Amino acid sequence: MVRPIGPSSEHTRSAILDMVRSSGTVSRIELAEMSGLTATSITRIVKSLIEDGLVIETGFGDSTGGKRRSLLELNPKAGFAVGISLDEGRLTYVVVDLGGDVIGRVVTAGIGKASPSAVLERIVEELEELFRELEVPRSQVLGVGVAGAGLDLGAGSRRLSTTADEWDEFAVQEILEARLGLPVVRDNDAACAALGQYWVGRIPATQDFCTLYMSNGFGLGLVSGGRVARGASSNVGEIGHVIIDVDGPACWCGASGCLEMLAAPRAIVRRALGDPELTKELELSGEDAALRRDYDALARAAASGEERSLALVRESARYVAAAVLSTVNVLDLDRLHLSGPGFDDAGPIYAQAISDLVSRHARARAVHGVDVVLSDPGFDAAAVGAAALALQHVLTPHARNPRIAPMRASA
Ligand SMILES: [Zn+2]
Repeated sequence: MVRPIGPSSEHTRSAILDMVRSSGTVSRIELAEMSGLTATSITRIVKSLIEDGLVIETGFGDSTGGKRRSLLELNPKAGFAVGISLDEGRLTYVVVDLGGDVIGRVVTAGIGKASPSAVLERIVEELEELFRELEVPRSQVLGVGVAGAGLDLGAGSRRLSTTADEWDEFAVQEILEARLGLPVVRDNDAACAALGQYWVGRIPATQDFCTLYMSNGFGLGLVSGGRVARGASSNVGEIGHVIIDVDGPACWCGASGCLEMLAAPRAIVRRALGDPELTKELELSGEDAALRRDYDALARAAASGEERSLALVRESARYVAAAVLSTVNVLDLDRLHLSGPGFDDAGPIYAQAISDLVSRHARARAVHGVDVVLSDPGFDAAAVGAAALALQHVLTPHARNPRIAPMRASA
């Protein structure tokens, strides 16, 4: 059974464990070089991590004349974490090991119009069932992470959502913790997706990057210094409300010409509905409840080269690329991930548009390029990221953001 890192040892030990995670395999000497700590300190910290089962020795690296260097890595089997993505259309559950590898996954009906309490009741049952199927003992589960679109997260911070008011006020963490007897943390889906890339992709804490998450809208998760950026109220990453056209259509947020109004699935579907033939061919319904299905049909058609759909998705991609270019310039980014269901089929079209614009116009293009990395469509970015959030919270608490109170909402 893994013991969470106690306050006495905390920061340094936690940072060393994170270096082991991001390195894959690493020697004690390399850890000393990376951290600036003495060999003696590293030996002591590694010994305690091995004793707690978090780190294992995996063989020997090249000798450089002296004695052979034994290699260390995170012990993936030391425990598990659960990630849950709450989405209107579906609930995705993943169970991951310490390395973030998915060992079990299930997708069930979405939250739809159900009340939060009914959904949480169902989550508890479905999770128990998943634990039974995977034969994962509760004592081995370190924590549960929950990702939700437009649901906030930080302790007590209010996320500005027009669609999820009931959820905003709902004590998801407290109720799930009480019912499951496990630590629960949550964040929005873009922040989770970014953290999932960080953990599973073994990105070191020294690499800053953004994840653009596209579902019905857009969100941007920014990881800087190994932490998800929070801003003043946990509302970082509202890239959907970057103004692309000051004379553009009015947005529900009060501004005009926001990226979401011009480029989100709803905007693409609305334009497609203006073409009766295309509407008929793709069997678009135009109903609000069928938005995801309509958009998916258009994205698939575009990906297969159907010209009218391709033109619509490319138009959206040009707007997205413009917003991303501004973000790249403001943050001096050299790495951007694209993830979320909006990119499942049309991802390459967006990645191309972004790469083209950024490589031509990024202000720092003479100094460095920008890698645009498209997530595997099968990758449950938000759910895996939510599990990574739980792992980070328990295993490397030095990277917790001070704005997130431990485990519980502030109420
Ligand atoms: Zn707006």
